[in-house]
Formats: sequence, structure tokens, C-alpha cells
Amino acid sequence: MAEFSKIEWTDHTFNPWIGCTKVSPACDNCYAEGLMDTRYGRARWGVGQARVRTAASNWSQPRKWDRQAAKNGDRPFVFCASLADVFDNEVEEAWRRDLFKLIEETPNLVWLLLTKRIGNVMKMTGGVLPINVAIGATMPNQYEYDRDRMKLWEVKQEARPLFTFGSFEPLLGPIILDKNAPDWIIVGGESGANARPMELEWARSMKRQSEELGRVFNFKQVGGRKADKGGHELDGQTYFARPEIARLNATRPADLGRG
Ligand code: SF4
Repeated sequence: MAEFSKIEWTDHTFNPWIGCTKVSPACDNCYAEGLMDTRYGRARWGVGQARVRTAASNWSQPRKWDRQAAKNGDRPFVFCASLADVFDNEVEEAWRRDLFKLIEETPNLVWLLLTKRIGNVMKMTGGVLPINVAIGATMPNQYEYDRDRMKLWEVKQEARPLFTFGSFEPLLGPIILDKNAPDWIIVGGESGANARPMELEWARSMKRQSEELGRVFNFKQVGGRKADKGGHELDGQTYFARPEIARLNATRPADLGRG
């Protein structure tokens, strides 16, 4: 995953475990693996490598955020996971069950589950999601969009998450969206020492298409190899929009209130 701190698209980040295997061109410069090499050194990447569950003290954090949200009367977004993939085949089922229990027990939080393994979601959840979950797929190029958008659409139709989202980051080429595009379109260029450049015209096109399709557009960063990540503006404007939870709740069928 990319680095998300100080980015307006989420309020908190939670990692239930650490470790992963690269499965997409979007993973080529995996930020999390880089951290393991330098700062954390806790988990090795790849097939057959053990994933490392984070400490109980870390698992208690979302409960604190949930209590605070209840007090404030808001619905903060929690991005899960930046150093792993929730729907990784090599993660123990029991860990994922524990995570979904935690999600159910923190109903004031909006959990953003972003995956590069969208094809696993239906089989790993049985098509049943806690009501405070949004599901996202990373789709960095046209090939992966064409391959994965209907899998995300199926999750939307069958499992009825709060909303769906597409992380088009790193955006590695121009993408033509269609009527099955996710509800929330998040676009960003890659950053870091080996960042692959994003042409601004690709991002502009995503913005135009989002508007035409009635989707919510969020622009995270231009990206690049410099420390400022190219800034957060697209043609002099910021786009930090999020789906409106109140409206989404209002349009949810009443019979979907299951855990
Ligand atoms: S899915 Fe995310 S955490 Fe896993 S290798 Fe790819 S970029 Fe890294």
C-alpha cells in the first residue's frame, strides 16, 4: 500500500497484522515492504512468509476511536490496512474473524477495507459484511480496472457495503471508467525514490469521468520522487471529497442492518 498519513481521505489507519505478497504492478514499490526493510523489520514479504499480528494494545485503538466518535457524534474513517491486505490468502482465518468482530463492535467507525485481492472478498466473507464497512479495490491501470471492476460491483450488489471505492493509486496509465465504476474514485501518483510518473492528463480525465458518472472524486497527490509528493493540488485545486455517510445510510434498505 502507499503511505497515507496526513492524507485527508482517512482519519485513522489500523493494521491488524503486517506482511503481504506482491500481486499487482501497484505493489512494485510497496511502501510497506520498504518500511520493513528499514524501520520495522518485523515481517518478510512473499509467499510462505509468516504474517505478524499486531499487539493487543494496537487492537484496542479502534475501540478508543469508536468511543470518541460516539461522544463527538461523527463517523470517522478508518483505513485498514496499510501494511498488509485484509483479504490475503495467507492470513489465518481466525485473525480475519477477529478483525470483523472488532469492526462490528465499533459501529461509529466507517471501516475502509482496501484490497488488491477483490476476487477474495465474496468467498472470504460469504457475502455478509458488517454494516459499517466500505470495500475498495486498487486498480492502477486499465487492465486491472477491466479485470476487477465487476468483482467490486458484485460485492456492492450482493454484500451491500456502505459504499465502494477505487484506489487508482499509483495511477500508472489512462483509464476509461464505465457505469460500473465504484462510488468513490481516489486518484494519486506514486511517490518515493523509484516513483513512476503520473501524467496529469490521466488524473484530469478521471476527474471529468467521475463527474459525468456522478461519482465522488478525491485527489490525493501528484506524486513524484521529491519529498513533497508533488503536492495535493490538481490544476490549482484540492479534491478531498468523501462519500456522505448520512445520505448513504438513508438510502440503505432497512433489512440490511445485520452483523
Ligand atoms: S497489497 Fe499492498 S501491502 Fe501487499 S504487497 Fe501490494 S502494496 Fe504491499
